[in-house]
Amino acid sequence: MKPIVWNLVELAEELARIHGEVLVCTKCELHQGRTKAVPGEGPINAKVMFVGEGPGEKEDLEGRPFVGAAGKFLTELLASVGLERSSVFITNIVKCRPPGNRAPKQGEVDSCYAYLQDQIRLVAPRIICPLGTPAIKTVLGPEYSVSQVHGRPFKRDDRTVLPLYHPAAALYDGSLRSVQLEDFRILKQLLDGETPGNQSGDTTSGTSEQLQKWM
Ligand code: URA
Ligand code: SF4
Repeated sequence: MKPIVWNLVELAEELARIHGEVLVCTKCELHQGRTKAVPGEGPINAKVMFVGEGPGEKEDLEGRPFVGAAGKFLTELLASVGLERSSVFITNIVKCRPPGNRAPKQGEVDSCYAYLQDQIRLVAPRIICPLGTPAIKTVLGPEYSVSQVHGRPFKRDDRTVLPLYHPAAALYDGSLRSVQLEDFRILKQLLDGETPGNQSGDTTSGTSEQLQKWM
């Protein structure tokens, strides 16, 4: 059988179709309270994908991810290593705002997971950065938390997962700012193809159950 080779236009069209599904999705109860669903945004061939927790108030109103205070800091962090926000893909583990910004429930994350899988499959980023513990648990596995693994690259199949603090964390705890800046330097090194020095992240070649589900 002839292999299916997708070009970027076809990939972008498929992604747009999936984002269209997100906008009208009713798979979990979060759809009831949303103003707009927030599928995510970025170039189809982005090398880096950031995965946050879920839309906040501003994101819910605008239908775009990370447009509030945390987003402003994310943009600054990117700029600190010479990256433009418009060059990366940004999404969340749940695409609709949890009421009052509560953490998403596991059932909601599970209901929404297929959209994230599709985004990863179509964008095929080299590096995935889950932001904060809920996103890290979703992407890497339930045994991981941000304080243990931030800034440590995990090799999973042909991708690298670099868990990071959520940018909102540094807004509450100023001492995390320098940690975040350092972790973004590691991201830049990975992007430039350098091996970050002194990092002891899990480099097992085994496929985690989570990542296997993406393939
Ligand atoms: N926090 C998130 O986790 N995601 C957003 O889109 C905005 C704030
Ligand atoms: Fe659908 Fe995800 Fe929104 Fe739930 S959070 S309604 S699964 S798009």
